[in-house]
Amino acid sequence: MVNGRLKVRFWGTRGSIAKPGPTTARYGGNTSCIEVRSSRGTLVVIDCGTGSHGLGQALVAEGTTRGCLLISHTHWDHIQGLPFFAPLFDHTNEWDICGPKGLSGSLRETLAGQMESTYFPVALESLGATIRYWDLLQGSFQVDDIHVSTHHLNHPALTLAYRLEADGASIVYACDHEVYSHAAADGNVRLDGPDLRHAEFAAGADLLIHDAHLVPAELPTEASFGHAAADYAVELGHRAGARQVALFHHRPDRTDDALDGIVARFSASPVSVLGARDQLELAL
Ligand SMILES: [Zn+2]
Ligand SMILES: [Zn+2]
Repeated sequence: MVNGRLKVRFWGTRGSIAKPGPTTARYGGNTSCIEVRSSRGTLVVIDCGTGSHGLGQALVAEGTTRGCLLISHTHWDHIQGLPFFAPLFDHTNEWDICGPKGLSGSLRETLAGQMESTYFPVALESLGATIRYWDLLQGSFQVDDIHVSTHHLNHPALTLAYRLEADGASIVYACDHEVYSHAAADGNVRLDGPDLRHAEFAAGADLLIHDAHLVPAELPTEASFGHAAADYAVELGHRAGARQVALFHHRPDRTDDALDGIVARFSASPVSVLGARDQLELAL
């Protein structure tokens, strides 16, 4: 990785369910997981989908013992890698796990639910690492030299967007999210009210990683599932003055060729647009 800059590596970019195979070989089939590092070495991991398995192995191999995991929400595709995240099994490691409180319990209780014996052989309380759990609300806090802000998203679960700032750069992760005003869903209407607040949260981001699960033709049947069209993500990035938009949370049935086609539609956009793919690394 390049020194002196805020760095991002995508380990999982798929939405809903992991989808390995020939149709997803280039963008990848793993669900949400992103590694962020400051130049001082502070590690923040955003979401713990199946992509976190590879990240966990890399962290163990390099001897990283500390980190902070930010969970956007507790839908499966964002937490399913947690029971397989190797750093949590080592008693010499220390992790903070932060996320919005579930509707029926704390973050810790919700994460423990997917590790009950019916589903998994190791209980959450048996994880070897020292783990502190934090129920988050809208606000801000510090992870060493990385400043973290949170903002509620529009999704059928309590869901937070994260804004990370360090080394003079900023990353905004906003996934899973559905536009508040459906009139703006295809990116063609002026943003107002809570949609404007959403854009303000992403203001001036060097990298906006945004839900782009849908294309406008899918909105009539899939609106209300809590996801956004790529066109809205790009328009939002433009209005927010973001430097770059990474389309993220690709539908499991979205092929590599289809994703190429979506990204190509924005080649003349005033904001730089890329399709997030597993193992892509950016220095901001
Ligand atoms: Zn999701
Ligand atoms: Zn979700």
